[in-house]
Amino acid sequence: MNYLELSLVEAVNLVRTGQVKAEEILQSYIDRIEEVDGDIRAFITTVFDRALERAREIDSRKEKGRLAGAVVAVKDNIVTRGVRTTCASRILENFVPPYSATVVERLEGEDAIVVGKTNLDEFAMGSSTENSAFFPTCNPWDLERVPGGSSGGSAAAVAAFEAMAALGSDTGGSVRQPAAFCGVVGLKPTYGRVSRYGLVAFASSLDQIGPLTRTVADCALISEVISGFDRRDSTSADMPVPNYLSEIEELPDRIRAGFLEEAALKGVNSEVASSYFKVRDLLSRLGVEIVELNFPSWELALPCYYVIAPSEASSNLARYDGVRYGLRERASGLAEMYVRTRTAGFGSEVKRRILLGTFALSSGYYDAYYLKATSARRVIARELKSAFEVVDFVITPTTPEPAFKLGEKQDPISMYLQDYFTVVANLAGIPGISIPCGLSSNGLPLGVQLLARPFDENKLFKFAFLLENNIKFKNNMYGINNRGRRKNEN
Ligand code: GLN
Repeated sequence: MNYLELSLVEAVNLVRTGQVKAEEILQSYIDRIEEVDGDIRAFITTVFDRALERAREIDSRKEKGRLAGAVVAVKDNIVTRGVRTTCASRILENFVPPYSATVVERLEGEDAIVVGKTNLDEFAMGSSTENSAFFPTCNPWDLERVPGGSSGGSAAAVAAFEAMAALGSDTGGSVRQPAAFCGVVGLKPTYGRVSRYGLVAFASSLDQIGPLTRTVADCALISEVISGFDRRDSTSADMPVPNYLSEIEELPDRIRAGFLEEAALKGVNSEVASSYFKVRDLLSRLGVEIVELNFPSWELALPCYYVIAPSEASSNLARYDGVRYGLRERASGLAEMYVRTRTAGFGSEVKRRILLGTFALSSGYYDAYYLKATSARRVIARELKSAFEVVDFVITPTTPEPAFKLGEKQDPISMYLQDYFTVVANLAGIPGISIPCGLSSNGLPLGVQLLARPFDENKLFKFAFLLENNIKFKNNMYGINNRGRRKNEN
C-alpha cells in the first residue's frame, strides 16, 4: 500500500483499527521529505526522532486518539515546546519555547504526530514566503513559482505529500491564499473559534489559526480537534464544537450562494474569473440558488487592512527588544542595544510594517488613518451582515491570479494586492475556506473561496464537501521527483 496516497481520515482509520502502524506511515513521510524537500524547502526544522518516538509510543497503546498517526506540519510562528520556533526571523532564530501552543497540545493530545516546522514570510507578513529570513519555499506545481504566503511552507508541504495536514495562521489570507496557489484546502475559522495561545501575535484583532489539508473531510477533522474554548486566550469563544466530520454529507435543501457581479472582477486574471463563473454555473446546475451581490465596501477592505494590521503589528512587535529572549546585539547602552538588535533582527518588510503602523497610530495621524480604518471596518462588517441576511454563503475567487514567479513582485503594493479577496473575512471575523477549483492553462491550481456567517463552519464544510465532490480536482504532485519533474517524464 502506498501510504502517502491515503487521506488523513483514511490513514487515521487504519492506525486506530490497528491495521497499519503509525510508525510505518510516518516513515513513508520522512522518506518523502528527504526525497523532495531539498528542492521545495517547505521546512525550517524537522523533528524526525521525536516524531518516530511518538509513533512507537502510539503503536504500543491500545487506546488511540482521534488523530492517531496523522502526520502534521506546524507553521513556525506557532510555538512548540523544546522545538525551535523562529517565525522565519533572525530575531528568533535560536528561540526554543518553554511551552506548546494550545493547538499543538490538542493535536498531540489526540495522537497526531508533528513532523516539523514550516517556512513562512517573516512574522507572517507577506504573500509569497519570499520574506522568510532564511530561504524562500518553492511551489510544488512549478518550482520557479511561489507557494503563496505567509503559510507557504505549510501549503507546499501538504501539496507535495510531505505531511497529511499542516497548521497555518491567517491574518489577511495567509492560509487561504497559499492553499489556492498549491491546490490544497485551507480554512480560516471564525475569530475566537480556535485558541491562539502560543501563536506569535501579528495583528491580534485579525489573527486565527487554521488547517491546510488535501481534502475537505481532513480539514473538518483537524478543525474539530483544534477548535473550542481555551481560558488561556481571552478572545476564545465559549461555544460547543459540532461534529464537523460526521455531519459533512448532510446538506440543507435550500442553499443560497452570493456571487460578486462581473464588474467587481475587473483587473482579475481572466482564467481566475472564468473558473469562478464555472463554479457559479456548476452550483446552479446542482440546484443552488444564485444571488448576485453588490458590494460597494469591498474595495475599502484592502486599504483598511493595511492600516489596521501594521498598527497592531507595530505594537505586538515592540516586545522584541533583545532583553528577555531572542537576538541581542552588543552595545554600550540600552537605547543603542534596542536599535542594533532590531536593525539586525528584522527584515525589510517587517520594518516597513512597524514604520507604517507607528505612523498610523501617532498623534496627529491617528484620526486620519487608524480611526478611519476602524470605521471602514464597521461599514464592511455591516454590509456583509446584510448580505448574509439574503444568502448562506458568499463566494469569491481566493486570489486575483494564480501562483506568480519567485522574484516577480518587487513592489510591496503589488504583493499587497494579492489579499484583495481574503482580508474581508479577517476584518469581519467570519470563517472562510479555499478549495481547489481547477487548473490554469499552464497547469497551476486555482482556488475558490467560500465565506459563511460567524460560527457556521459546520455549514461551510458541508457546502465545500459538496463542491469538492463535483469539481473532482486531482492533486498529481505525488508523482514529482526531487527535481520537480513528473516521474514519467525524462
Ligand atoms: N498577505 C497579508 C499580509 O502580508 C496576510 C498575511 C497573513 O495573513 N498573515 O499581511
